[in-house]
Amino acid sequence: MKYALVTGGSRGIGRAVCLRLAAMGYPVIVNYRSNSDAALETLSLIEQAGGKAELLPFDVADSEAVEKAIDGWMESHPDDYVAVLVNNAGIRRDNLMVFMQDDDWNSVLDTNLNSFFYITRRLLKGMMTKRWGRIINVASLSGLKGLAGQTNYSAAKAALIGATKALAQEVAPRKITVNAVAPGFIATDMTSELNEDELRKMIPAGRFGQPDEVAAAVAFLAQEDASYITGNVISINGGLYT
Ligand code: NAP
Repeated sequence: MKYALVTGGSRGIGRAVCLRLAAMGYPVIVNYRSNSDAALETLSLIEQAGGKAELLPFDVADSEAVEKAIDGWMESHPDDYVAVLVNNAGIRRDNLMVFMQDDDWNSVLDTNLNSFFYITRRLLKGMMTKRWGRIINVASLSGLKGLAGQTNYSAAKAALIGATKALAQEVAPRKITVNAVAPGFIATDMTSELNEDELRKMIPAGRFGQPDEVAAAVAFLAQEDASYITGNVISINGGLYT
């Protein structure tokens, strides 16, 4: 059976993506780091809507933890493979570069970028053998435009976009597409302390986006019909920057 794995599926954009992919008929593997209550809520929302899901907590920034979790999943699912991978888990640790500590830099690069490498590398073999796959990376406006106070986050997301374009070319012959979405300001826990009233003035659409508005683009890229779209970045930002 074809599964979908969504990293950071417990909350925010990841939860909305899990719900969309489950509605498309995929059994969804919901990854998260530590917030079990939120992950269980995602699971229950999927099941209430008639979908199937299972939880798989692991730290995406830890190469060994990724290997162990995915190996364990594969052992218990010998006839299944992950056909749709959404690399969504992310954090931000904003600071002006002059004040930024090593840990702020490294943790953001580990969680937003290195995780893509650890997880995608591990799951690619299955997609290549089955000759079908969809990899969708959640980047950011910050990775396209650069945002002051986010040199770490902008670097991670820009690198993720570069990796998306390179990998797309490697695996296109195997009918695997690799794309990214680049959200602007989306109303989630990650942006909850920002001043939306102030920031909305610079967004042409006049508001923050909703997680499901990002999930809709992810679901579009996951479809069979999107098979000739690869190496692309879709901006979802209310016209803030394209
Ligand atoms: P969020 O509400 O803060 O949720 C973050 C999710 O990532 C949670 O499920 C969290 O798990 C998980 N996570 C964080 N670190 C992890 C780790 N080391 N291992 C496994 N899971 C981890 O964030 P969001 O706003 O939905 O953001 C989702 C993605 O969109 C991120 O990549 C973010 O950079 C990107 N993005 C967001 C915005 C925005 O405005 N919100 C804009 C552009 C891009 P726990 O629940 O266990 O903590």
